[in-house]
Formats: sequence, structure tokens, C-alpha cells
Amino acid sequence: MMTSIFFRNIARNFLEFIYPPLCVVCDSPIGADDTLVCGGCWGGLKRVEGPVEYGILERSHIDEIRSGFYYDDILQSIVHFLKYHQAPGLAKKMAELAAPELMKHPGWARADALIPIPLHKAKARERGYNQAEEIARHLSEITSISFWPDALIRRTNTVSQTKMKNAQERVDNMKNVFDVRRSVLGRRLILVDDVITTGATANACAQALKQAGAQSVNVFSVARPIFD
Ligand SMILES: [Zn+2]
Repeated sequence: MMTSIFFRNIARNFLEFIYPPLCVVCDSPIGADDTLVCGGCWGGLKRVEGPVEYGILERSHIDEIRSGFYYDDILQSIVHFLKYHQAPGLAKKMAELAAPELMKHPGWARADALIPIPLHKAKARERGYNQAEEIARHLSEITSISFWPDALIRRTNTVSQTKMKNAQERVDNMKNVFDVRRSVLGRRLILVDDVITTGATANACAQALKQAGAQSVNVFSVARPIFD
């Protein structure tokens, strides 16, 4: 047993010598402590200052939206990698880097629970996991705010957002899609997603939570789009 681990380690070190691990964003070699992305790329992310307002089309049931970073080319590569490969280390790193933006606002730091925006079960199965849930789980560990992964479920498999013709169609597609599966009465909640775009999905979640009696629903995403 020990011998096989010994030889496996030698084989791994040999492979890393021939094929050093490369950053999934910029292809430069990464250090032993880095997870898939180099320090230069992590350090190049641009922080978002203040609440997100401009560009969000649907937010009537959301109290406040905050994001860690702008969704630039670097973050797009990271999020894309996270979505299609199971890379829990990346979700953890993203949560660590984004968490200070959540914690510096007292109203947010005192929230009762973090709730990931759910994927439909079929989609989660196909992909293996829900990246919003992974990010929320790590945010919960860092912030000590409770993690409620089963509070919301997505009822029907809606048409893929990317196939929609316009923003209004996206908004209509999202109505009455989410079910609340635990008591949220009087609770201050934070919905968590990797990227917020139109706000339609998050707003539909917020609507369901408010109808179930939630006191407030904020939205926290690792990334928000850039509008110039
Ligand atoms: Zn890099």
C-alpha cells in the first residue's frame, strides 16, 4: 500500500516536471500553492465599489445587490472553467476573495442565511454540481452566516436563457419557477450566484422568498457585468 502511494507520488512529480501546471486563464506556470489560476490573474481582478444598480433590469423584489468583481476577461475564463469542470478549489478561492465585500456592510454581515440560486436538477446532474452552491458553501464557512442550500428549488426546466430573444422574454420565463422549501418568516436572506446579469433569476427567487415571509432579500454575486 505504502509502496503504491510512493510510486504514485513519484509518477505525479515526474509528470509535473514534464508538464508543469499552467494557469487556466493565461497559461503561465502556477505555483504549488495556487489552484488552477496564477497569482497574477487573481491579483488583476477589479473590485466593485458600492451597490450594483446600473444595468440590472429586474430587481423589484431585491433589497440590495453587491458583487465582488467586474466580469472581465480573466473572471470570465475562471467562471467558465468552474461551470464546466468540477473545481471546488476555484469556488473556495473566489469566495475568499469576494467575502470582504459582503462582510464590510453590517446589514449584510448580520444576515440569517446564504441561499444559492438553484439550478434545475437535470442541469445540476448534467454538470455534476451547482457552482453557486459551492460558492455559497465557502462564503458560509468564511462569514459564519448559515448556509441553506435546500431553501429554494427550481420547479420547472425553463428554456435556456441564452435562447431567449429579449430581456422581457427572460423575465417572463422566470416567473413562478421557484419554490420555498423551509421557513424563512422574518429572516434576512442573501441569495448567492456566480454572476448576476439581468437580475431576472435572482428577482424571481427574491419574489418567492418575500411571498414566504422573508424580511429582506439581498443578492451577492462574485461577478457583475461591465457596462461602458
Ligand atoms: Zn494567469
